Amino acid sequence: STSQASEPHYTITTDATYAPFTFQDKNNNYVGIEQDMMQAIAKREGFTYTMKPMSFNSAAQLVSNGQADGIIAGMSITPERKEVYDFATPYYKTGVAWIVKNNSTIKQLADLKGKTVALKTGTAASEYGKSLQSKYGFNVKYFNDTDTMYNDVAVGNSAATFEDMPVIQYAIKNGMKLKIMNADNPGNAGWYGFAVQKGKNKALLAAFNKGFAAIKADGTYNKITAKYLGASQ
Ligand code: GLN
Repeated sequence: STSQASEPHYTITTDATYAPFTFQDKNNNYVGIEQDMMQAIAKREGFTYTMKPMSFNSAAQLVSNGQADGIIAGMSITPERKEVYDFATPYYKTGVAWIVKNNSTIKQLADLKGKTVALKTGTAASEYGKSLQSKYGFNVKYFNDTDTMYNDVAVGNSAATFEDMPVIQYAIKNGMKLKIMNADNPGNAGWYGFAVQKGKNKALLAAFNKGFAAIKADGTYNKITAKYLGASQ
């Protein structure tokens, strides 16, 4: 009977380990650019949601099969995904990095011949890595989450990995002993977008776009990115 009771409620999925976009803080709360964005947008636009952190692959599937309403998970807007999802206004520019351990002797992609490359199931970076596999002759091993994948490279099990530039940059800044090989030349540049199942949840998509435009215009979005990336971003 109150206006609050009639606020729409949605289920949103996210990638549990994708700092600085979504990750757990010391107290196990989910934080990050995406979490702050969703909170600010929902508050402005008058909707509530349950956030469900999981693997990226599951997060994407739950939305494509209609078990969740939306996904905010560092999800790259790609032509293939546009067949399955409707994307909101892009919020963050990215590109694919290839990454080795700090003290690795690997100098170029050709040095990966016969070696193992760690990839994350269902991601744009893994598609990019796969596309180079036959040319450079490496083997691939799949992981469900970025932290475990990084660790496999850091301990020397896998020789390299592919991951989105802002995510690996943040990890290195926070002590991960890995090195980016193509910092000036990211592969497959693109943008992240909030997404819903194609043709569904039009009200949620519209509310997200309206709220996002507002938090960009009033400086809230800049404050959020500065909080996680520093003022220079
Ligand atoms: N940006 C990549 C993709 O969309 C990775 C997303 C992720 O791992 N959360 O596939």
